[in-house]
Amino acid sequence: MSNQEAVEIKEHSEKVHELDSLFKPKSIAIIGASSKELSIGNVILKNLVHYGYTGKIYPINPKEPEIRGIKAYTNIFDVPGDIDLAHVIIPSKFVPQIIEDCGKRGIKSVIINSAGFSEMGDEGIALQKAFLDNAKKYGVRVFGPNCQGIINTDPAYKAYCDFTFTFPNSGSISIVALSGGVGAFIMQSLFDLDIGMRMYASNGNACDVSISDVVKYYGEDDGTKAIILYTEGFSNPKEFMDVAKIVAKKKPILAMKSGRTEEGSKAAASHTGSLAGVDISTELIFEKIGMLSFSNEEEMCQASMAFSTQPIPKGNRVGIITNTGGPAVIATDELVSAGMQIPPLSDRAKNILKETMLPEATIGNPIDVVATGGGNHFRSALDVMMEEENIDSIFINFVTAPFTDTDEVARNIVEVSNLKRKPIVCNFMTNLSLERFQVTAKILKDGGVPCYSFPTTAAKAMGALYKYHLVQSRNIGEPENFKNVNQQNTKQILEKGKAEGKEFLTSADTYTILSNYGIPVAEWRIANSVSDSVKAAQEIGFPVVIKADAASLVHKSDLGGVKINIKNADEVKNVVEEMQQKFNASDLKFFIQKFLPGGKELIAGVSAKQELGHLIMFGIGGIYVEVLKDVTFKISPVTKLEASEMLSTIKASKLLDGVRGEKGIHKESVIEIIQRLSQLVTDFPEIQEMDLNPIMAFEDKAFVVDARIKL
Ligand code: ADP
Ligand code: MG
Repeated sequence: MSNQEAVEIKEHSEKVHELDSLFKPKSIAIIGASSKELSIGNVILKNLVHYGYTGKIYPINPKEPEIRGIKAYTNIFDVPGDIDLAHVIIPSKFVPQIIEDCGKRGIKSVIINSAGFSEMGDEGIALQKAFLDNAKKYGVRVFGPNCQGIINTDPAYKAYCDFTFTFPNSGSISIVALSGGVGAFIMQSLFDLDIGMRMYASNGNACDVSISDVVKYYGEDDGTKAIILYTEGFSNPKEFMDVAKIVAKKKPILAMKSGRTEEGSKAAASHTGSLAGVDISTELIFEKIGMLSFSNEEEMCQASMAFSTQPIPKGNRVGIITNTGGPAVIATDELVSAGMQIPPLSDRAKNILKETMLPEATIGNPIDVVATGGGNHFRSALDVMMEEENIDSIFINFVTAPFTDTDEVARNIVEVSNLKRKPIVCNFMTNLSLERFQVTAKILKDGGVPCYSFPTTAAKAMGALYKYHLVQSRNIGEPENFKNVNQQNTKQILEKGKAEGKEFLTSADTYTILSNYGIPVAEWRIANSVSDSVKAAQEIGFPVVIKADAASLVHKSDLGGVKINIKNADEVKNVVEEMQQKFNASDLKFFIQKFLPGGKELIAGVSAKQELGHLIMFGIGGIYVEVLKDVTFKISPVTKLEASEMLSTIKASKLLDGVRGEKGIHKESVIEIIQRLSQLVTDFPEIQEMDLNPIMAFEDKAFVVDARIKL
């Protein structure tokens, strides 16, 4: 066999996916099928039949000869043919044995709808472990337990393995939701919007088949053009990132997480922990791997309509065609705030339109074809926009003026949309209780033109398409690996700190670690006495800063433990003596530091997140950090591009460029500090929290003047 043949065979065999038995079952056993109306075992059977499942259904029930007219079997061993998938709808205590039986019977996947497992405390956890062990033994994949199930609308399968009540048309959007309730209303919302669905999965306790597995499966499914994902977090965020990163480049993942924001109010000892607030890491995951994050479920569903029918724009330039003024203005506002532009038309385009438009039309961008404009006017405007090189997408405002042939307008929009050259969204303003306009609406709908009833909604959908263009073209690159770092010494310091049971490292250790990682710090000395302090200050060179240094002093300046701009030996003596009186900590020392006035105070920090690594923070620093809360986060390791995005995404980013004659800062230095910080915590995951606050940033360089490391 040639290599080429080997590759082909391998590729072919990979087409049969392990989860095909779940999503594309040729036969399904319903263990716990019931003739009792309103029971899950009855509804699932009913749904499969009602939806037109193309495979074989085997109800399993020891007492009933048939259920809903389908022959039932006492157990799975009596079933004559192969079984790909089994629904398990029996009391939880019997589930481990049934899974063992399924394994013996050669069933490849099970959907455990039954509840009573890990969501129910210790006993349930033990049962879940027991059946999972049995499943592993036989290689049975488990979906659930305590879940709805899956739906595959592919006409070849029509597998409605779920007890929900929405019967979607086939389409190209696939949904995955941990929560069945949310999944079901998203499915219903797509149905109401007349958007076809491809597959659906809601996996409840997700003990085996995870959200990551499902996303990977959808990623490889050619029929899935876009994915909608809803979750409350990830049990294995690293795995999810690895999987979804690849899928998100291939097809859009529209994602939403609940339980966002609401700043954590409890005062934490260091800034990074408290500023991170409640779980923001899931959204950072979305951002890092290029998923489209939504905070509004309705917007997410509305946007999916555009994704299911339209191509992705190649840029941010929108052409607007309208037959009424005001809505175009509203749309423009929304498009612009989504980062898009409305460029002027070329002379070529204007010349054509002068010939084709009504005399009262406005020729420009927007093109106002006016309310009396008919199909040929819309068509000419569309054709012109399609040919314009500096237009990437087309926004249509279409009000069904009663004195025009609105069907003709719709047909023309559909014809151009079908070319799939540039995405089109339509704000379609009409009265759907009139039969005449229902016909127009149907022409647009059947023609795959995403229609919205508000200009803002339509513009937001267009904005989402554009955002995905940005995602596809954004390459964050690989994290830099700075060579000139001293890992060995850092390791020793951290081990010593751990051995001594320290919560925070001493200042000396902290600054040594920063220097080990090439993070520039203001020159410093530690002194024990007045004379030591004077000597240190003289070595550093006046003016200096003196900071009271003891394990118990966290926010030093609040307690009067920071004195800046100390110009001579006498002042050193006074300050040190004063501090000796004020602080009677037994470990009190004096941190003498070069005074670096006139810089911009920035903050960078890290906080460890279980299962995920660290979050890196950057923002406006100094003593007002908690008041301003102008900070931004990324998941480590942070690449150069991500670090520079951090500088540009804070609210006060313009401050870094300098305002009103004030000098800007040397961004490259700060970007490098963020990257080096990221490398440090990647090398030493045991670091729990770290704050560099402030980093004094100047026109030509930047230095850390206060730092803390928590183990
Ligand atoms: P803490 O955060 O514990 O209160 P800092 O060391 O951050 O103490 O000092 C508080 C403030 O003092 C800083 O935000 C900064 O404005 C100023 N400061 C501290 N060290 C220096 C320095 N070396 N040069 C200039 N200003 C400094
Ligand atoms: Mg500080």
